[in-house]
Amino acid sequence: MSSAIVGAASAIGGAVTAATSNSWFIPMLMAAVAYFQYEEIIDPESKPSDVGGDDILDHYDFIVIGAGSAGAVVANRLTEVENWNVLLLEAGGDETELTDVPLMAGYLQLSKIDWQYKTEPSGTSCLAMQGGRCNWPRGKVLGGSSVLNYMLYLRGSKHDYDNWEAMGNPSWSYRDAQYYFKKSEDNTNQYVANTPYHATDGGQNLSLDAAGIGPHPCGSGSSPAPPGIGLLSGMVTVLVQTLLSSQCLVSPASQWPVDYVGDLSQPYDFVVIGAGSAGSVVASRLSENPDWRVLVLEAGGDPPIESELPALFFGLQHTKFTWNYFTEPSDDACQGMKDGRCYWPRGKMLGGSGGANAMLYVRGNRRDFDGWAAMGSTGWSYDHVLPFFEKSVTPQGNATHPKGYVTLKPFERQDNDIHQLIIDGAHELGQPYVERFQEGSETGYAHVPGTVRQGQRMSTAKGYLGAVAKSRSNLHVVKNALVTKLDLDGETVTGVKFERAGVSHRVKVTKDVVISAGAIDSPALLLRSGIGPSKHLEELGIPVELDLPGVGRNLQDHVVVPIFLRLDEGQAEPMTEKAVLDGIYQYLIHRTGPLAAHSTASLVAFINTNASSDSAYPDTENHHMFFQRADHASLELFTKGLSIQDQYTDVLQEYLKDSHLLCVFILLSHPAARGELHLKSRDPKEPPILTSNYLSESEDVATLMRGIRYIESLGQTKAFQDHLAEIARIPIKECDHIENYRSDEYWRCYAKYFTVTCYHQSGTVKMGPDSDHEACVSQRLKVHGLENLRVADASIMPAVVSANTNAATVMIGERAAHFIQEDYQGEAVGANGGLWVPHMHADDF
Ligand SMILES: Cc1cc2nc3c(=O)[nH]c(=O)nc-3n(C[C@H](O)[C@H](O)[C@H](O)COP(=O)(O)OP(=O)(O)OC[C@H]3O[C@@H](n4cnc5c(N)ncnc54)[C@H](O)[C@@H]3O)c2cc1C
Repeated sequence: MSSAIVGAASAIGGAVTAATSNSWFIPMLMAAVAYFQYEEIIDPESKPSDVGGDDILDHYDFIVIGAGSAGAVVANRLTEVENWNVLLLEAGGDETELTDVPLMAGYLQLSKIDWQYKTEPSGTSCLAMQGGRCNWPRGKVLGGSSVLNYMLYLRGSKHDYDNWEAMGNPSWSYRDAQYYFKKSEDNTNQYVANTPYHATDGGQNLSLDAAGIGPHPCGSGSSPAPPGIGLLSGMVTVLVQTLLSSQCLVSPASQWPVDYVGDLSQPYDFVVIGAGSAGSVVASRLSENPDWRVLVLEAGGDPPIESELPALFFGLQHTKFTWNYFTEPSDDACQGMKDGRCYWPRGKMLGGSGGANAMLYVRGNRRDFDGWAAMGSTGWSYDHVLPFFEKSVTPQGNATHPKGYVTLKPFERQDNDIHQLIIDGAHELGQPYVERFQEGSETGYAHVPGTVRQGQRMSTAKGYLGAVAKSRSNLHVVKNALVTKLDLDGETVTGVKFERAGVSHRVKVTKDVVISAGAIDSPALLLRSGIGPSKHLEELGIPVELDLPGVGRNLQDHVVVPIFLRLDEGQAEPMTEKAVLDGIYQYLIHRTGPLAAHSTASLVAFINTNASSDSAYPDTENHHMFFQRADHASLELFTKGLSIQDQYTDVLQEYLKDSHLLCVFILLSHPAARGELHLKSRDPKEPPILTSNYLSESEDVATLMRGIRYIESLGQTKAFQDHLAEIARIPIKECDHIENYRSDEYWRCYAKYFTVTCYHQSGTVKMGPDSDHEACVSQRLKVHGLENLRVADASIMPAVVSANTNAATVMIGERAAHFIQEDYQGEAVGANGGLWVPHMHADDF
């Protein structure tokens, strides 16, 4: 998104209020197309001028009320008589450029140029409409409903008019009406124009190319543009049509599994809760056995189109496609965020958070997994997990790699000089740039690949479920199904209760239930089902099924302190409107360009800030977000996503007027702090209480301070100084009282305000041996104390990996499926002989 689009939006005067937040993209594009075309040529429509109060006469010969399809004609024709004064009164104002675009007609409804009438509810019709009422749009604008309509010109049947006359209205026969039809027509359709029924010299332009932008796109009246022979306008029409229709190809419904609405009375072998990064993997792998009936229950539906575009991932936040969670206010952190709470979005859609994430694919350090093994999950060392990482992916361009479901590809490089600047600066500080992080040991800088394919997101819901669902009748996916509780009978889970569209359902299970609802909702569901610390459950009045003290504890995340650097003050090239339009065009037509990437975000650094420690295990990770000068809309999307308070956003926007901004996310790789999750109530719709405990441990603060010092040094390198790099000072009342700007004390204060998440919540259903009183699941991911309940998602990580968490979560899904397959392998096979369906690859669909 860009400033150009916002500019164009304001140019249309906010007429399109009906467009939802999810449908802004194409209307904005069209508005931009219309805006620039018109701005650069001339407004083709000579709009009647509005008569001011003083110019209204005392007397008129005629007053016409309503400047709609009929009123405008009446007033026009009456003023043909020179001596007559005619007043035309219209409740609405001028048309906008957007109203000239035929395919935009639908967007105009319920906007401010529509009277927005609705029928009364009748109980017999309009039942599928909101409130059982039909919309009756009527234009409230010069031109009336002819401005809202779809511009189709049809006269009606001869019999209609003859009937009018027969009903006692002399001179309204078809023969009479035809005279006026012809009088009003300027028919440019060469096939009919000169027939006895049509005319070419009336007021109303009628054209075959109804998709063109308005009747005379290049001007008329007193400022005629050079005449055209139709070739160019034809091309423009094709272009506009193509752009409009190409958005439909971005996310065809066929790439998602269908919503299962059939019979649920038969028990399933497996029920998987959540179709996120891990759940989609588990369900897909289990359904490879055609004898196993597998049900997936997902609280969200299909992802929005915007989920496909890497550059728009921040735009998904604070919408209905995310669970919009917020942390509790804290004295230590998040104070510069709205209400002093950090925003923790999780994906609520097929693909889960993997449908909303930044698509960076990073596996983690060998020591992360060896650490898990050392904590008692002996089968989870790096060497044990590596095959499951490998199994899940297809790195594009590597023909010898076995085909996995998730396609990996480098992001297209945008803003190349900024990438180079960062690499050069880091080089001066002795930090290497490597083509690829060495497997299992990430240090220095590298461009990480994306879970992306041809410029589009490759979530596990797309790769693992969408790609196979059609060919597997044993796999059912129910969308918009919120699981509210597990049914238990002693140590066995017998079924699952869920709600869909306000209706409660129950399904039974014969083998395992797998919870893959993510690091917040998995523990929340366990607690609601009576599995968790008994004291907490009793406080909420939830009957205790199993006292499991660790549920909701051990909450970890990669806390981030973002530092903003100003670059090239006064010299920075601003973002141009044309570049924005080019970007939209490139994406829609070629799936390339800035929207197919997210600028410098794929350039990732793992820095060991502690010179005295072992350098193979970095303690910070850095991400880089670049905002080109004047790209205010992108910055807004970012600050809104993070929930930064307006006063601070305003300062950053001000800086962006004359310099670029580079935001470096300093991410704490191994947090010592542990947060907690509790339920507020038994109500499944009430969000849990999330205590981050960010920056509550002094060693975490110390590491981040060193991380900030590293960025300060980076800003001082020659490479950065050549770009006039300077830390963007953001006035913070409390911190500005500290005498020394940028002292340790200052930065500690800054970090207290500028604290955000890197979205890597994990650990809340910890994996570990029985002997660990916090452990909730065994190393085969079975809930301790229960027979057939497993948890498989980011919540089982005993310690968060020192990387972005998606890749490891997909691996966890693969392992969970593998354990289950092993556990049930001995069973008698059914009619299909347990034949595993051959692997189908995401690239095949
Ligand atoms: C904005 C953002 C950016 C990120 N960027 C990156 C990145 O670039 N790289 C990276 O590696 N990681 C990234 N992450 C983190 C990564 O995506 C997550 O760690 C990972 O997706 C977690 O997977 P999961 O299976 O544990 O949970 P999720 O993927 O969140 O899946 C949980 C699913 O369960 C569903 N669910 C929840 N409760 C219920 C219920 N009661 N009933 C039915 N269904 C339910 C949810 O709707 C969801 O679909 C990012 C995350 C976010 C949010």
